[in-house]
Amino acid sequence: MQNERLSTFKPLLCCPRCHASLLWTEGNAACSACRSPFPIEAGKVHFVKPHSESSSDAAFQKKQMCGITLTGKLYNLGRKLISGEYAPVNHIKEFVAKIKPGSRVVDIGSGSSRIREDVFNIDLFAFAEVDALADAANLPFMDNSVDFFILDTILEHVPEPQKIINEIRRCLKPGGEVICITTFVFPFHGYPTHYFNFTKDGLSFIFRDFSNSKVMVNMGPTSALVNLVSEYFTVAFAGRNHFFYTLCKGLFLIPIFMFKYLDAFWALSEEKSSRLASHFCVTAVK
Ligand SMILES: [Zn+2]
Repeated sequence: MQNERLSTFKPLLCCPRCHASLLWTEGNAACSACRSPFPIEAGKVHFVKPHSESSSDAAFQKKQMCGITLTGKLYNLGRKLISGEYAPVNHIKEFVAKIKPGSRVVDIGSGSSRIREDVFNIDLFAFAEVDALADAANLPFMDNSVDFFILDTILEHVPEPQKIINEIRRCLKPGGEVICITTFVFPFHGYPTHYFNFTKDGLSFIFRDFSNSKVMVNMGPTSALVNLVSEYFTVAFAGRNHFFYTLCKGLFLIPIFMFKYLDAFWALSEEKSSRLASHFCVTAVK
């Protein structure tokens, strides 16, 4: 399937440096203009070098997401059972459900998950489900070539969010659409770097060049509060030890995580909810 996806996306892929077309050979791609080489390893095109897990946070994240270590397994199980995060509407699921088969869909910063078999995953880490290693600030797609982009809690982790939104707009077909979920009232979480949290006004501003952008609450104020309270005690008690951090986070969530369902009531007033929301969801059309 990975080969099939790559063949489908080959006509859309270009040099992320100069946007010229690529020359394909076995195990390699190269820019037809600037000659930059982009090796293909394990079926993944490397438009950038794999992100090195230089910080312990980055290594922790990778292990957590793949559930390799005991801490990772504990984290994934905890997230399923006692997560403090609750979205009354699953915006990404609804967005993807409306996408017709045969559309060109790119998930930026997919991590180790694949939303649908025909979605092309890019990331800085070489997770198994990643199709190409690429930097969101220099996307390897031709102008006006992609139907849909998905950005699920990625924007807070990039140093130049406006640059990425501009790149997405360049690559989208006219009428193409992007969905972006990102954090507002949310603790610092690294993984590997956490640069910004966004207000509703800030998101409207960075999507201002799109024809039709809409900012909605994704996770409400109680999710924010539950997360902040459990994080407050976790940071105080566990500090930076990853195992104790995960354990404490779970323990402090147990007595309060159920409160998150109060967000179903907050969802009745978008205006009030957006003043304290945990996450926003933006949809925008080129
Ligand atoms: Zn080039």
